Amino acid sequence: MIERRNSVAVQVDKVWIGGGHPVVVQSMTNTDTSDVESTVEQVRALYDAGSELVRVTVNDESAARAVPEIVERLAAAGVHVPLVGDFHYNGHLLLTRHPDCARALAKYRINPGNVGMGRHWDANFGQMIGVAIENDKPIRIGVNWGSLDQKLLAQLMDENAGSAEPKSAEEVMREALVVSCLSSAAAAEEIGLARDKIILSAKVSSVPELIKVYRELGRRCDYALHLGLTEAGMGSRGIVASAAALGILLEEGIGDTIRVSLTPEPGGDRTREVLVSQQILQVMDIRPFAPQVSACPGCGRTTSTFFQELADEIDQHLRSSMSAWRIRYPGVESLKVAVMGCIVNGPGESKHADIGISLPGTGEDPKAPVYVDGKHFKTLKGDRIAQDFIGVLEDYVNQRFGA
Ligand code: SF4
Repeated sequence: MIERRNSVAVQVDKVWIGGGHPVVVQSMTNTDTSDVESTVEQVRALYDAGSELVRVTVNDESAARAVPEIVERLAAAGVHVPLVGDFHYNGHLLLTRHPDCARALAKYRINPGNVGMGRHWDANFGQMIGVAIENDKPIRIGVNWGSLDQKLLAQLMDENAGSAEPKSAEEVMREALVVSCLSSAAAAEEIGLARDKIILSAKVSSVPELIKVYRELGRRCDYALHLGLTEAGMGSRGIVASAAALGILLEEGIGDTIRVSLTPEPGGDRTREVLVSQQILQVMDIRPFAPQVSACPGCGRTTSTFFQELADEIDQHLRSSMSAWRIRYPGVESLKVAVMGCIVNGPGESKHADIGISLPGTGEDPKAPVYVDGKHFKTLKGDRIAQDFIGVLEDYVNQRFGA
């Protein structure tokens, strides 16, 4: 059991972040927010995939005008997911000119590097915090290395240059990210925003740097933390980088909500980032979301693709059944299924799963032993092995997780 870092719990609508609550999965749309139809559709898809918060960019007047309608239409469709507004440069103006938008959003993301310079920073930041206080909304102070407060960075670089033991440029940048978060949070509290209305994030694109920044942030404060690697990248690179960074931090108990920022392939599915977040949490044994299928990688002992097809079919079956099962069979998300390609490791692996099957490898008898709760249950034969196994699986789920 991972010991979680102590953090202040923040309520975002009906979702709790931090304070020992389960790690929350969130995502972000990539539609034009002013396109109400497309944005509603994508928020709904992200919500259906399991996103517990969805962020939308609020970049101009038309986006701000669209937000209340988006929230209304989602509610009418039964999609009760807190919507977070992402503000840069003109957030103070949009939140003030569009009180309906400020009310409709469940949380505001403020990037202190994009709030304005000098006395404008104080005024603009103060204006946004004032709107948050007035509407009783939490905020995320979301620092990003690509838009780090340049004045702060220059000041820390100058101080470092004059120091007897100067740090490396990377160390100074990490310190600037942490200081930007902490000083902005302190400024928000000074204006009157409660501590339990503040979440912090400090995103960079390098995995080792992200780990160091969050360790430091986690050590120096008890604000709830939003974890995420910025510009994680496309396809397997983005998934691997996010899993490596988030996995290490989560194992150390750091992180109260996560977002995996994947660049979708052209025409790709935006909901993939939700699935990857869930899988990171599930494989780390932090939070189960869906029954897991472990399948062997296959080797020369099995020349047929049958076991790969069966593993895929079972995975699809479990996923498509989950929306109904979640209600009918509480706890079913912790189910573990094994699909193995031959009897070398098959029975052993199957015994460690709740339910497992070993398919016949090349030259083996055309029989597939099935194990249930670690014991041999039956042996399937013939050309209906897949359907028969799904039948055994359904019965097991009903008996174990049914009322
Ligand atoms: S279970 Fe059998 S088929 Fe699968 S990897 Fe191991 S030896 Fe190869």
